[in-house]
Amino acid sequence: MERQKYLVTGGAGFIGSHLVDALLARGEPVVVLDDLSTGRLENLATAREQRHFQFVHGSVLDASLVDTLVSECGGVVHLAAAVGVKLIVEEPLSSFIINTKGTETVIESAHRYGSRIMIASTSEIYGKNSSGPLKETSDRVLGSPSVPRWSYSTAKAVDEILAELYRREHGLRSTVVRFFNTVGPRQSPAYGMVIPRFARQAVRGEPLTVYGTGRQSRCFLHVADAVEALLSLIDLPDAVGETFNIGSDEEISILDLAERTIACAESTSSVRRLSYSEAYGPEFEDMERRVPDTTKLRAFTAWQPQRNLDDVLA
Ligand code: NAD
Repeated sequence: MERQKYLVTGGAGFIGSHLVDALLARGEPVVVLDDLSTGRLENLATAREQRHFQFVHGSVLDASLVDTLVSECGGVVHLAAAVGVKLIVEEPLSSFIINTKGTETVIESAHRYGSRIMIASTSEIYGKNSSGPLKETSDRVLGSPSVPRWSYSTAKAVDEILAELYRREHGLRSTVVRFFNTVGPRQSPAYGMVIPRFARQAVRGEPLTVYGTGRQSRCFLHVADAVEALLSLIDLPDAVGETFNIGSDEEISILDLAERTIACAESTSSVRRLSYSEAYGPEFEDMERRVPDTTKLRAFTAWQPQRNLDDVLA
């Protein structure tokens, strides 16, 4: 029997390249479309040795290229996006266009060829909502400039609306996944994510910089568990038209995380506290908590994270 081919946009990136490896390991043929703006070919070193793998260098904004690739694939996982604090803050509109128009282009082709599509969204669409754990039904913030990196969260909210409209009006078979903090190998420290930064500081024996009180909390999911969640949803009929949080519910304060990282690295580093205004300017406010409720994902699938925070740090 011929296996279904998957198109993974953004497949040279952090989450994408791990998903590609996992799909190939299951024997599924995979095509990656990536413009290598933040992704790297090195992430696909293992994949590129496999017979059923193809890499295409190009943009999701290129409608005819996307159309050709989608026409050959029964399944699409759309992960390509402009990401990273610096890029979004410095280029809010061009990143907004990639993150909306690019998604519309991929959705349009998936609709034309009847392909099933999974679309990457983010916990940031919950805005400053610090109550928790956050359910898929919690309030979303669309277009509020008071949300840090508004253009990113707004674009992802628009993507979710597009997916829903195409589903209602054209029967698009789509599933939205909202990633919470995901960490692991191949993640670029350039994004400013706290664990890669702490790990680098601890290994170098430099102070670990904690912003604000350090009592703000986050949850970190190992990328391998995020990929398992994607695989459990990728062809599940009941997941069509649904939205799922993907994240860990192991909550830790940033101050405790700094201490755990120092212990894990057996480092002599100390912890240095900085106010948000020293770090980011007077206007900056951070969310106190960002904790996913993953009850829905667990109800639809047999997914259980297999790794805890110590595995993530290791
Ligand atoms: P990443 O930067 O490693 O991956 C994004 C990939 O998209 C990169 O390989 C990049 O080169 C590619 N890309 C960017 N613009 C493109 C374009 N115009 N055409 C083709 N390819 C393009 O980031 P990631 O962490 O792997 O993120 C994957 C997805 O998950 C993104 O949609 C992101 O918004 C979402 N997400 C990630 C996290 C996380 O914690 N890592 C959290 C929330 C949401």
